[in-house]
Amino acid sequence: MSDVASRLTELREQLPEGIQLVAVSKFQPVELIREAYEAGQRLFGESRVQELLQKIPLMPEDIKWHFIGHLQTNKVRQLVGNVALIESIDSERLLEVVNTESLKKGVVSNVLMQVHVAKEETKFGFSPEELLSFFRDGRHEGLGNIRICGLMAMASNTDDMKRVRDDFAEAASLFRTVKESVSGLDDFEILSMGMSGDWPIAVEEGANLVRVGSRIFGERHY
Ligand SMILES: *Cc1c(COP(=O)(O)O)cnc(C)c1O
Repeated sequence: MSDVASRLTELREQLPEGIQLVAVSKFQPVELIREAYEAGQRLFGESRVQELLQKIPLMPEDIKWHFIGHLQTNKVRQLVGNVALIESIDSERLLEVVNTESLKKGVVSNVLMQVHVAKEETKFGFSPEELLSFFRDGRHEGLGNIRICGLMAMASNTDDMKRVRDDFAEAASLFRTVKESVSGLDDFEILSMGMSGDWPIAVEEGANLVRVGSRIFGERHY
């Protein structure tokens, strides 16, 4: 078995049932992605539009690609229709552009709203307050070519696992609040959180999709 295949197998054995695994293949060569594919992996995550569009035609068609990086509005047109899920909707303007471009292409785009819970300035996303008022004001309604499938969050980039857990707990609580109190969100099911270093904590706090890169593919070469 290749290194990628054995690390993937080991990870799958540790993941509780019902948790989706996105193999984050950004900056990784297609040879390694293919090893993961051969080991049965079908969900992959990429963070740059250009890189993703180069990889798609080189890989089998039954792969489901998730876009997980910061998405610039001028790249939306190229991305829409090419991915199963955009996990990183970090502004209302971006959501509107995705809706418009999806309408033009005649597709419905599945998206997650990225929520900023980390105690850091640098992370993109809606604050919990912004997200709640967005939904409470019904601003998600009328976006006919968007399907909002849940939330994506990243924890603070720190070794303080207590803080990481608090961040995930906050995102999970927000997820439940939205799911229980907002009408018209029939597909709101996914809570995407947890990466190589913190996925077990994310799962304990309620994640049902984890995004793991270096733990499967090894270090990235930027
Ligand atoms: C790179 C990345 C990951 C994976 O990170 P690893 O630490 O390599 O597992 C997960 N989510 C997002 C949004 C990323 O950009």
